[in-house]
Order: sequence, then C-alpha cells, then structure tokens
Amino acid sequence: MTKTATAKELPVFIGGKWRVTKTKEYQAVFNPSTGEEIARAPLCGADIVDDAVQAAAEAFKSWSRASISHRSGVMFKYKAILEAHFEELSRLVTRENGKTLDEAKGDVRRGIEVVEYACGIAELSKGESVPAVADHIDGVTMREPIGVCAGITPFNFPAMVPMWMYPMAIACGNTFILKPSEKVPLTAIRLAELFAEAGLPNGVLNIVHGGREVVDALCSHPGISAVSFVGSSKVAEHVYRLGSQHGKRVQAAGGAKNVLVVMPDADPEPTIRAIMGSSFGCAGQRCMAGSVLLGVGEAADAVRKRLTEAMETLKVTDTSADDKAGMGPVIDEAARRRVHDYIERGAKEKAQLARDGRASVPERGFFVGPTLFDRVDPKMSIARDEIFGPVLSMMRPKTVEDAIKWANMSPYGNGASIFTTSGRSARQFTRDIQCGMVGVNVGVPAPMAFFSFSGWNQSFFGDLHVQGREGVMFYTRQKVVLSRWDDQYQRQHGW
Ligand code: NAD
Repeated sequence: MTKTATAKELPVFIGGKWRVTKTKEYQAVFNPSTGEEIARAPLCGADIVDDAVQAAAEAFKSWSRASISHRSGVMFKYKAILEAHFEELSRLVTRENGKTLDEAKGDVRRGIEVVEYACGIAELSKGESVPAVADHIDGVTMREPIGVCAGITPFNFPAMVPMWMYPMAIACGNTFILKPSEKVPLTAIRLAELFAEAGLPNGVLNIVHGGREVVDALCSHPGISAVSFVGSSKVAEHVYRLGSQHGKRVQAAGGAKNVLVVMPDADPEPTIRAIMGSSFGCAGQRCMAGSVLLGVGEAADAVRKRLTEAMETLKVTDTSADDKAGMGPVIDEAARRRVHDYIERGAKEKAQLARDGRASVPERGFFVGPTLFDRVDPKMSIARDEIFGPVLSMMRPKTVEDAIKWANMSPYGNGASIFTTSGRSARQFTRDIQCGMVGVNVGVPAPMAFFSFSGWNQSFFGDLHVQGREGVMFYTRQKVVLSRWDDQYQRQHGW
C-alpha cells in the first residue's frame, strides 16, 4: 500500500456517476514491467457498498422488467463498442497487468465472447411448457432474474474474468456491483464506461474498489442476492462460507495446480510449443497454467532437453514498451519474492534446478524468468503448492497409470492435459483424471464462453459455474406456472 500524492485516485461508479471517495487508504496500481505507480485504488468499506446496493436495487426495478429484446439489443451494441476499442483495452490490460500484448488480446477476446454469448439471452433463458398437465390445466416454466448480484475478481485476467460475470448477470435482467482486483482496476473502469456508452441505464452496473473489507461487506449485505468470486482457494472458500451464511447463492472459483502429461509417443514439436504457452504464458499467472510436467518413461529426457532449449529463446522484457515481448513480469514485488522463495525451497528440497529464472531478467519491474525443476518428488512443496509464477516442476512417472495417480493426489481440480498420439492413453486419461477441464494435445483446456468453467475440488466452491448455461442458471431462478382456463366451449361439448 502507498500514499503517494501524485498518482491518480480512481473513482467508484455508483448509480451512473463516477466519484472519488473520501477513503483514506489506497492500494497502489503498478505497471509491473517498470515498477512505476500508475494509479491508486481506494480501499472502500461497507458505506460505499451500501450506496452501490441502493443504486443497483433501484435500477433493478426497471431493468428486470425491460423486454428481453431491449436487453439483448444493449448487449449487441456493447459488443460492437468493445470491438471498436479492442486494441485500446488490450494495451490497458498490458499496462496494469504486465502480460504481453498478444496475451492481453486473448484476455479481452475471451471476455468479448461472453458478451457475444449473452446477446442470445432470449434463446438461452427460454422456459419449458407442458400443455394439459391435468384437465384444463397448462404448465409453463420461466426463468427470472434474482436481484442485485456482486462480482469479485482476481488480478490475472483484468478483462476476461469480470466479463465472465456481469454481462451474463445483466443480460439475465439483474443489476451488478463489480469489485475488480485492487491491483488491476483500470480495465474494469474502462469496460464500465463503454457499457454506459452502449445505453446501459444508470445503476445497472456499478464499480467499487478495495480488499477484504469491501469483499466482506458484499458477502454479508442483505440487499445482495448472489456473489460470483474468482481468486485463490483460501479466499474462495471464505467468500463461499460468508456469502452462504448470509443466504446468498455463491459461485467461487479458486486456485489450481495443473498437470501436463507427456507420453513417449507425443508429437514433439507441437507438444513443446503447447507446454511453453501453458507454463510460461502470462508468466505462469493463469489458473489453467500447467505447473507440473509429467514426462512418462522415455519421454522425460527428450522433453527436458527440448524444453530447456525453448526456454532460452523466450524474450523476457518490458511488455508495455515491446509489443513482441515473449514473456512479461509477475504482478508485483510480493509475487516476485514468493516465486523466488519457492525456487529456493525447491533447491533445498533437492529437486534438480534445470533452469533458474532468477538470473538474466530486466532490473526494473517485477520479473522472474522461466524456471524448470526436474526430478521433483510428488511430496515436495513445488509439486503441491500453487506457485502462480513461471516455475514448472517435472516428475518422471513410469506409466500413464502412475501419472494419473500422481495428478489425482492434488487437492485442486481445475485442468489437466495429456500429449499423446494414442487414442487409448487419451481415453484412459480423460476418464480417470479427477478435474473439471481436460486437454488432449491442448496445453490450456480453458473452455470458451458457451461452456462453463468447470473447476472441481478445491478449485471451486459452489454448484453452478461461471459462463455457459450454468451461468444463466446461476443468475436466474425458475418459476413454474400452472394455469386453469375452464373453457365454456369445452364444457358445452362435454370435454
Ligand atoms: P486473491 O484471492 O488474492 O484475490 C482475489 C479477490 O479477492 C480480489 O478482488 C481481492 O481483493 C480479494 N481478496 C483478497 N484477499 C482477500 C481476503 N482475505 N478476504 C476477502 N477478499 C480478499 O487472488 P489473486 O492473487 O488476485 O488472483 C490469483 C488467484 O486467482 C490464483 O490462485 C488463481 O489460480 C486464481 N484464479 C482462479 C481462476 C479460476 O477460474 N479458478 C481464474 C483466475 C484466477
């Protein structure tokens, strides 16, 4: 936290108005490539949450009654505006998060796809009907919005993760309070400005800033019906418990430790390319990043050799100054120190440090280079903990069965991938692996907007996941209507 007077204080967005709060405490927002402070996010409290809930509840009265074609019309307009600002938004993501411009474009693109999906809300939220469920009685179901919803998001996808939530919630007829990560609030602010340009009425989308205090206020405010959370498992569980205790529906996605299994029959070149992207893309700060590499049998030596060669070619540099950077920094100094600590711990635990990312990185900013440990034991902390940086831990199972057994020892359950040309191995893996998103020759098996983001175990707390049809179910509730119309004509004819 810092209190530098020169940096720009960010406003909250409540009831269609931007305003700077009287909050005294701020979180500095950095350009992680340079370490320069670029803004300050106020650490708001319960009073600001209450203002936002009042505004959102007022807006709900008319937005929830707006025709579905009006709501989808606003979404279509928003999608067009986002496309027009695609480059600008991507550069903003790079500036505050540090990921490369290409990665930032992926971040924004995945988010826009959710808006695109939400444009079809009429089709997505259709009910069912059964005529004549009994004499003269017809039955229909309809899905209705649930009220004021809140979203709490992490730093690693400043555009995509907020857009997993509010476009779906709003298209369903709800109003929304977004609490973006205090480390990357700038993209969320711009996304809200653009939604207002698309004709979204005041108070339908609101933005508050802060950390634990504001999150706890959102989870316990009686005026909020549902909370969507994405972040680390510890906080996900806390949000899930607190929100549920206060009678809200909660979906809370947590952390991960994803495995990449390489079989001896894998096609070498695309496999290495996929591992590089999975483990070192976004500097390893993805909940779907491959952070454990299981080189099965004779695959291990070959994969280690090719991988260390590829790692040497990765250009680690200031992403805000170089559009062709290969890998950017981690989010802040605390993250850099945490990753360094894990590298020290792995070396102490006697794993083989095949490439040390602490050397040869830019001096300014929060950089750690790509790092590879070999001959890691499944019990070591670098095999078990989510490091959330560019560190890959390699183990050497003898068979695919061992690989699956080691992978299933993880308490998490986000993603896992296998690289193979054998249908048998692929089938065995996809059936026996205990996680919600599986890749076959795909390094990051993150589903697109029309599927749900299906974390299992400690990677998800709740029932209905974000995105896709489950997203629509989460942000609506079902009403069943039984109607009796006793028709005179029918009576006359003795029906
Ligand atoms: P984080 O848990 O530190 O923060 C997430 C959100 O929670 C932020 O908005 C933050 O302000 C708030 N928060 C932080 N500490 C809190 C506390 N003690 N009480 C209440 N609220 C608190 O996560 P992060 O560092 O921003 O993001 C990285 C984590 O997010 C990783 O663990 C990553 O795996 C996970 N993640 C998961 C998914 C998924 O879909 N499962 C997607 C992206 C990121």
